[in-house]
Amino acid sequence: MAMKLIRGEILHFLSDPGEDNGTQRASPAFRHHADGGLLVDDGRIAFCGDWADALAAAPEGTPVDDHRGKLLLPGFIDTHLHYPQTDVIASPGKNLLDWLDRHTFPAERRFADAAIATETAEFFCDELLRNGTTTALVFGTVHPQSVDAFFGVAQRRELRMVAGKVMMDRHCPAFLRDTAQSSYDDSRRLIERWHGTDRLRYAITPRFAITSTDAQLEVAGALAREFPTVALHSHVAESRAEVDWACELFPWARSYLDVYDRFGLLRRPAVYAHCIHLDARDRRRMADCGTAAAFSPTSNLFLGSGLMNLRQMLDDGVQVGIATDVGGGTSFSMLRTLAAAYQVSQLNGYALPALRAFWLATLSGAVALGLADCIGNFAVGKEADLVVLDPQATPLIARRMACAQTLEERLFAWMTLGDDRAVSTTYIKGHRRWHRDAGRPRVRPAGPRGGSPRCD
Ligand SMILES: [Zn+2]
Repeated sequence: MAMKLIRGEILHFLSDPGEDNGTQRASPAFRHHADGGLLVDDGRIAFCGDWADALAAAPEGTPVDDHRGKLLLPGFIDTHLHYPQTDVIASPGKNLLDWLDRHTFPAERRFADAAIATETAEFFCDELLRNGTTTALVFGTVHPQSVDAFFGVAQRRELRMVAGKVMMDRHCPAFLRDTAQSSYDDSRRLIERWHGTDRLRYAITPRFAITSTDAQLEVAGALAREFPTVALHSHVAESRAEVDWACELFPWARSYLDVYDRFGLLRRPAVYAHCIHLDARDRRRMADCGTAAAFSPTSNLFLGSGLMNLRQMLDDGVQVGIATDVGGGTSFSMLRTLAAAYQVSQLNGYALPALRAFWLATLSGAVALGLADCIGNFAVGKEADLVVLDPQATPLIARRMACAQTLEERLFAWMTLGDDRAVSTTYIKGHRRWHRDAGRPRVRPAGPRGGSPRCD
């Protein structure tokens, strides 16, 4: 592809808008163009601004994708989810540990089979694109072939993805157990094969401290030192029972987070999902290390884990991304996840402004993943991954939008009422990879195992 113009209302962020509600016209934190244009050259942003200026910047005859009446945003960035749990979404459990035993571990066993892994990865990537998510930080299973399969699918689709093999050598079924040495060897081979290949990055992925021996956490730290640009990805302080168990297993640690710290696993880029039960010292340590929290509100509500205090995390300088945490989370939609983020924050006494919510779902996620140099907003030179939101997506959204006076109000309506239906188009490197009207999902009936429905 040579050049292309994409026209529509444009919003993107340069920094945290904080409590800004967008009524002050000139905010340094974001750019808003009511009639805007993006000039895309070879998959990257060459210009972003008002339509007249974009048109002037483009060579004569540049083709135009016209989305007037809709909003262009940088693609959503999901900072924590598990592709092998796609098929256990909406499976109830008494709590986190019960849910892992009953649903997750048996489901993950199937990913020893590369064909199942590939089929699931295809469905998973379709689902991300249908929801406007263009980058994600993704758990595989303990099987290295699960990560080869995922990266293979993402590579063919030219997606910017970060993923890793689970490291897990205790407190799990024998059929999902690796060893410190095998997890080191497998992770190393995957890093060498995939990290920095096309748009792919690797994440060293111990499941959580409970399922790793000291020896395994040591080798995770060794990998982190050997490969300083590789991400780290794990869970921390999700449920009370999990925190208690972790503190029992590592009695020398000051806190659960401190376990990771002692093994050299807090740094940038590193993302820890949940971060619900942390204290002030933990938060300060995360801020100092540039280690990010993945706020997973639908999952935290679904499993009854607790309410992460978003305001406190942000006030303490912790980088936060938004995460669906499928399959503990209940939706692939970042809009639905923002709705839950708002509700959970309300229970902590904080009314999350919509502009800040969309910053969390875009640029803040890119910073968390160490990818802000290539994605997260429409700065010139960045990769042209974007989502187009439709204000007419449903009758109710259309009706609510008709009486919205401000950008903040419209964003709030999308995040409160929206889901995959609000996503009209998703672009990857300037190419339409999902378009709702052209591609109304034709869902094939589920066949026998492995033939789950997918969108064409
Ligand atoms: Zn998770």
